[in-house]
Amino acid sequence: MHPENWIKTDKNGLYCKALNAYIDPMQPVEHAIITHAHADHARAGHQHVYATAATLDIMRVRYGVDHAAHTHALDYEQTFTLHKGAFTLFPAGHILGSAQVLIEYKGSRLVHTGDCKRQEDKTCAPFVPVPCDVFVTEATFGLPVFQHPPIEHETQKLLSSLERLSSSCHLVGVYALGKCQRLLIALRDMGYHEPVYLHGALVNLCRLYQEHGIELGELIEVSSLEDLSILKGKIVLCPPSALSDRWSRKFPNVITCMASGWMQIRARSKQRRAELPLIISDHSDWQDLLTTIKEVNPKEVWVTHGREQALVHQARVMGYKAKALSLVGYGEGGEEPIANDKGGVF
Ligand SMILES: [Zn+2]
Ligand SMILES: [Zn+2]
Repeated sequence: MHPENWIKTDKNGLYCKALNAYIDPMQPVEHAIITHAHADHARAGHQHVYATAATLDIMRVRYGVDHAAHTHALDYEQTFTLHKGAFTLFPAGHILGSAQVLIEYKGSRLVHTGDCKRQEDKTCAPFVPVPCDVFVTEATFGLPVFQHPPIEHETQKLLSSLERLSSSCHLVGVYALGKCQRLLIALRDMGYHEPVYLHGALVNLCRLYQEHGIELGELIEVSSLEDLSILKGKIVLCPPSALSDRWSRKFPNVITCMASGWMQIRARSKQRRAELPLIISDHSDWQDLLTTIKEVNPKEVWVTHGREQALVHQARVMGYKAKALSLVGYGEGGEEPIANDKGGVF
């Protein structure tokens, strides 16, 4: 039976009648399948949550142990029967624990990617193309102008600046979940083994990643320092919101940096007052979105959020049936896009 008969969108998001479950719902519901723990996808208050163990761990850190009445930890590629259908999680390559959801019902297969990326990321299992009839994807960076450079390239910019401005504290805005840890690993891989200093808001998630066996090197919380002058020539990571607040006013010779896919857009880096913008994204860029559609080769493409129309148009040009679901509320959880990002910068 065609998925349009058993999947619909409503004010809570994407609802699957076959499973009697929502995927990444906006409001508390009875059954929620959570693709990953970014705040715009994972919310507290559901009766039953189905997700990977890592996603559930992150939700516990963020929302407390009682964020849901019941939690069900699923391994990748473990099929779970729910109501009248079945679903299976597959790696999405986005952040630790992130998953795509394959739903199977009456001979049809639908895959929902959640957020996904194709660039290498040592903090999570790589994206797996899963054959399906309907492929549901995001389009956060769904315009041809978006081309994300390799992370080594952007990390080198930071290291070169440190070398050049060796008495400056490099304050880098990073999202607490995913971006922070990925940048740390890139720095270590490129031979930077100095301690990296952290804003308190990043500490718990870094610890959780370390508990999952992901090496991040020596990390020191800024609030534990008595003498801030030792931050000269050092890297401090903080949430984007802390870039411009009073927290850093006593740091020595601050250079403001920001790591985000949006840093490719000059207006955005100005908005963040980033003197050193680093284009590091945990989403697919335009080319990776197209490559993914080709590899999955579904009968139909549905686009959840982001630059839906551009990707829908391109998918049609490539010979696929395509439509926009225009789900609202995603991309506003403080992760990739800056809040209220539908802005007219193009
Ligand atoms: Zn995400
Ligand atoms: Zn998202």
